[in-house]
Amino acid sequence: MKINPVGLYTHLCKSFGPQHWWPMDHSHHEQNNTDPRFEVMIGAILTQNTAWTNVEKAIKQLKKHHLLSVQALKDADTELVKTCIRSSGYFNQKAKRLQYLSNYLAERYDGDLDQFFLQSTDRLRKELLSLHGIGPETADSMLLYAAKKPVFVVDTYTKRLSKRLPLPVNAASYDDIQHYVEHELKKEYSTHELVQVYNELHALIVNLGKYYCKPKPICPNCPLLSLCHFGQQQEKEV
Ligand code: SF4
Repeated sequence: MKINPVGLYTHLCKSFGPQHWWPMDHSHHEQNNTDPRFEVMIGAILTQNTAWTNVEKAIKQLKKHHLLSVQALKDADTELVKTCIRSSGYFNQKAKRLQYLSNYLAERYDGDLDQFFLQSTDRLRKELLSLHGIGPETADSMLLYAAKKPVFVVDTYTKRLSKRLPLPVNAASYDDIQHYVEHELKKEYSTHELVQVYNELHALIVNLGKYYCKPKPICPNCPLLSLCHFGQQQEKEV
């Protein structure tokens, strides 16, 4: 039996339940009167090439030094930023990216994310992609989880799953996967619903990739086994 993105979403929802992304502690922002959407943007850069657990440690340090606002991060001593985010790896590069983003938002939008996110999805995506150190996955994470725009995020887990199920796309191509998934889900859900559907589906695929569809997959217990070509081939070979 073949699976499409609608079936994948419903199946994973039933198996894992709601994922409640983006993971963050909102109370810090309530207490400090800061914008939680900026934390999402920071997290999207920090998670480049590293596990989320390493990002959590870096965010904790940034919070401790009250650097989770556009103005504070822009004005911060770069060496302190590097020290705070050391756990996330590539900290020299990432500190530069974080401060470039803060400077940009401060200078162009006066640090006001409402103004920045007011643009159409296409314009905002183009602008994000033009910024230093922001590629498609980072830009789309910011669009979906910070700006609440209907954009599906593709990552390594999604590419691996697309290849193994398989989905009828070039599983090595970010754009192919994104266009296919969005095209299929748009047939089923309204634009308003899509933000939540893309939010959940990406989080569900990450969950599947972390616990089952790993580089060496754990197929026998996987909720997608009956729908997955690769998993069924593995079963036959045992
Ligand atoms: S059955 Fe195996 S290969 Fe298929 S999605 Fe599950 S873990 Fe991945």
